[in-house]
Amino acid sequence: MKIICIGRNYLAHIKELDNDLPTEPMFFLKPETALLALGEPFPYPDFSHEIHYETELVLRVCKTGKAIDEKSASEYYDAITVGIDFTARDLQSKCKAKGHPWEIAKAFDYSAPMGGFRKINTLKHPEDIAFGMKLNDNWVQQGHSRDMIFSFDRIVAHVSRFVTLNEGDCIFTGTPQGVGEVHVGDKLELFLEGDPVFEFEVK
Ligand code: ZN
Repeated sequence: MKIICIGRNYLAHIKELDNDLPTEPMFFLKPETALLALGEPFPYPDFSHEIHYETELVLRVCKTGKAIDEKSASEYYDAITVGIDFTARDLQSKCKAKGHPWEIAKAFDYSAPMGGFRKINTLKHPEDIAFGMKLNDNWVQQGHSRDMIFSFDRIVAHVSRFVTLNEGDCIFTGTPQGVGEVHVGDKLELFLEGDPVFEFEVK
């Protein structure tokens, strides 16, 4: 499986990082080794001093597709959860300044913790999915899928023009505002439609 991540999909987050508004979805990949087993702590990596959390809705692809039409895109994903797109912001800033790829800042081991998936057709409000994260018992990010610049269908159509999607692939759909640093000892709790999905610590 592969993990695809969409960048810059919520206006308020684009402003907080002082980025430009995208005209089409931008994406990058993380390898399977970015997964973190449920119940395991996230090991703070030794190559960064500025690890940021980005709380995101994550789609699960349910069948193979290439160059998927936006109108039929919803047939290609069936389940959703929340996850963290961990980012070594210090390394990312250096890569951006040099015009280099970002992989070392985004694709490192355990950088994509995510919860168990729920079928989208069992959600209370699939047209506007609420999600969020509590850091040490305080809300730091709360988002709604209606605030996305690019819809799930648009994302699936765009990504599959370039990369074949396979069953089991996961798509992180971008973070709302409120990103920030984590530190050793922090506790992160993730929520979908108000329900706790999973939690873990930074060690
Ligand atoms: Zn992200």
